[in-house]
Amino acid sequence: MTRSPDNYLSLQVAALAGGVGGAKLARGLDRVLPPGNLTLIVNTGDDFEHFGLRVSPDLDSVCYALAGLADPVRGWGRADETWNCFSGLGELGAPTWFQLGDKDLALHLERTRLLQEGLSLSEVTRHFCERWGVRSRVLPMCDGQFRTQVRITDGSLLDFQEYFVRERCEPVISGFVFSRAEDIAPAPGVLSALEEADLVVLCPSNPWVSIDPILQLPGILEVLRKKTVIAVSPIIQGKSVKGPAAKMFAEMGIPPTSLSVLAHYSAFLEGFVYDLLDRDLFQNYEGERIIIRGLNTLMQNDEDKTRLAIEMLRFGQDLIARKAP
Ligand code: GDP
Repeated sequence: MTRSPDNYLSLQVAALAGGVGGAKLARGLDRVLPPGNLTLIVNTGDDFEHFGLRVSPDLDSVCYALAGLADPVRGWGRADETWNCFSGLGELGAPTWFQLGDKDLALHLERTRLLQEGLSLSEVTRHFCERWGVRSRVLPMCDGQFRTQVRITDGSLLDFQEYFVRERCEPVISGFVFSRAEDIAPAPGVLSALEEADLVVLCPSNPWVSIDPILQLPGILEVLRKKTVIAVSPIIQGKSVKGPAAKMFAEMGIPPTSLSVLAHYSAFLEGFVYDLLDRDLFQNYEGERIIIRGLNTLMQNDEDKTRLAIEMLRFGQDLIARKAP
């Protein structure tokens, strides 16, 4: 069906997301699109076990954002959080490199209990989203074992959270290792959401450790090559807004610029959004296949998130209209 270019609100959208940057645009898209028009597909390569509990940092960031529970200042975890359990752990000399708020902990406890009862991660996520009244569909990228590790220059491997939180992204990296169960598959609904989407959005998440794990799953790239896919750069003026994305590009020997982000996804991208502060970088851009658009991509509040979401949807709608017969 060919849709009216004005009617971006009728688009079916699937968005690939990690945690911080992903959750911000996810919130904007969720506020703008009618309920049922948005599916978030969220990285689980950073998931890990801590105190015997299953922690899913990116999934939780996205769910908290959509549920209106996220802490707006910290950028992760819940607003109005208390830290009683965490300080009790500290008194006992327990590991405290990974901060756990009380309500966050409740989520990890209940998720672990439900997983032990035999529910899948996608079923548990759906249950939580229903309890919170989340309007869009949130899917973990897979229900099976998938682990992202970073290789550091001495050749050793660190689990992502060890690198990210415990080591504060300080070690210099030389690559990434994605370990997965042999029979790994995207979670139920992931491939169909992509197939059925009019538009696929790559949120401004870390390309290496938030989006690439999703792209590693069987069948994902094949679908993306058939779809209208647009991405927004997580790098502005050579810097990450938060986290190690720019540092990772540099350590991999690639200039940490939004042009490099475009190149990273170029195999399947149809549209790319760079920040207006980077307009000089794209002045002489001559790629014909990938259409570019400069926007103000910094999301500091909900208004920024919905504005960028609307502009992304309009951009997607323009690309779809170009292809319409
Ligand atoms: P993580 O898994 O928690 O690291 O979260 P993501 O991968 O989803 O997000 C991290 C990326 O989001 C970083 O590379 C940031 O530069 C990017 N990011 C965060 N906030 C913004 C923003 O407001 N605008 C843009 N363009 N990028 C952002």
